[in-house]
Amino acid sequence: MTIQIRPQAISDLKVREFQMLIDGQWTAGAEGKTIERLAPSHGVLVSRYQSATKADAERAIAAARKAFDFGPWPKMTGGERSNILLKAADLIAQRSDELAYLDAIEAGKPISQCRGELGGAVDIWRYAAALARNLHGESYNTLGEGTMGVVLREAIGVVSIITPWNFPFLIVGQKLPFALAAGCTAVVKPSELTSGSTLLLGEILMEAGVPEGVVNIIVGTGAEVGAVMTSHPDVDMVSFTGSTAVGRLTMTNAAQTLKKVSLELGGKNPQIVFPDANLDEFIDAAVFGAWFNAGECCNAGSRLILHKDIARDVTARIAELSAKVKVGDPLDPSTQVGAIITPQHLEKIEAYVSAASEGGVTVSHAGGTLDLGMGQYMAPTILSGVTRDMAVAKEEVFGPVLSVLTFETLDEAIQIANAVDYGLSAGVWSSNFDTCMTIGRRVRAGTIWMNTFMDGTPELPFGGYRQSGLGRELGKHAVEDYTETKTLNMHIGSRTGWWMPR
Ligand code: NDP
Repeated sequence: MTIQIRPQAISDLKVREFQMLIDGQWTAGAEGKTIERLAPSHGVLVSRYQSATKADAERAIAAARKAFDFGPWPKMTGGERSNILLKAADLIAQRSDELAYLDAIEAGKPISQCRGELGGAVDIWRYAAALARNLHGESYNTLGEGTMGVVLREAIGVVSIITPWNFPFLIVGQKLPFALAAGCTAVVKPSELTSGSTLLLGEILMEAGVPEGVVNIIVGTGAEVGAVMTSHPDVDMVSFTGSTAVGRLTMTNAAQTLKKVSLELGGKNPQIVFPDANLDEFIDAAVFGAWFNAGECCNAGSRLILHKDIARDVTARIAELSAKVKVGDPLDPSTQVGAIITPQHLEKIEAYVSAASEGGVTVSHAGGTLDLGMGQYMAPTILSGVTRDMAVAKEEVFGPVLSVLTFETLDEAIQIANAVDYGLSAGVWSSNFDTCMTIGRRVRAGTIWMNTFMDGTPELPFGGYRQSGLGRELGKHAVEDYTETKTLNMHIGSRTGWWMPR
């Protein structure tokens, strides 16, 4: 089902002008260049940002370094930092309509979904605030009469945070509040396509009482600004979410000064379905998993691995339900699938579908590109008869394209699931406990959903195996990621000498 776009919904929009935040000041870039963002849904200018240069990135890193080495933030108690993060969470909640609207028009995401993501983000900020009071090390009083050991957790220092365009506000929330809870300072670079809500977060953090220089937010291309942020010697850690290709580059850059690196990268996530599953529930989850965020989602359930006895019927039912999914104007509250991020990205998705159909795959629900008169849109597209060696079975398409494969035995299903370079998440559907547990143990992915898909909560760690990433976000250890451990090895009483035994 197509929802027509409403030009009038955006016609009275005032283009938002953003500066960048360096050392507590809103500032223009060194060269006065700007980046303009057109709404992917309406094709009109919605935001203009100051574009950072290498010099601006260095200025932001210097500010974060100074704030870490000499400022109050790392020295505050966990309780004090926690209170500021809680205040920030309240302010995010208060401004959530404005933030959601910015994400909707810059990323082309449905407004109702953006509101949901804002609620999720507030919850994560509160969770991180709670962890700030719980960061502690270990003590060892079992090392003999002469020795006691204490292991301290210390903030790691300056963190570069680089985020993608698909969940602009949510993803910065999976990193920044945890880094701040630990006492770190940060330089943040959102995607140049969707920087608005992250820049508004800068205003919120200043109002909440985060001292100047602790959070610096710059906008610019990854090639120019991101490269400085990942290689500069004054940066202690890089936390990156984005494509596997750029993740690899990030790691290479960071390796020159042996920075700690946390990477959240791409996925090609399978849902394995057995005939004894509750198929009504699965079909709903399949449609949600594939089309949510127009499939521009690291966790998208983009590969269905269906038992051959049910494949035909299940695929037909998924196609039937997919035809009812509302695609179109992200500003319409009933829209379920919004716009594709850029015309270039739409071309890339189309190329995958064309290559698959030339390779003999059946395009069983031929959604394809939609011409709505403005912006760029694509309807849900299902490819059946996909085999595991095809590009659409192995590579991240990052659009509303679902590949359907089949299996006969449990072992074969696991082999197909593991036959890609990624390992972010997977789903299994069966009413048999043993089947679910076997899949849960043997599929190599950071999250396995059992009889559900794409649920999440701040308590549960998230991240990928293999080329889906390195490290985990969220969960009770998320703050520890932004720390170093230091051992205090303490001697009690007189010490036995090396040269002159006493
Ligand atoms: P990219 O890798 O293209 O970009 C991610 C970020 O990296 C952007 O801010 C980008 O800047 C920046 N960047 C680009 N080049 C460099 C560089 N040389 N050095 C440092 N930074 C650089 O990803 P997309 O924005 O296209 O996002 C989509 C990808 O993100 C998908 O692969 C998806 O799977 C992944 N992702 C993973 C998630 C996870 O949690 N595992 C969650 C969400 C997305 P700019 O674009 O402004 O130039």
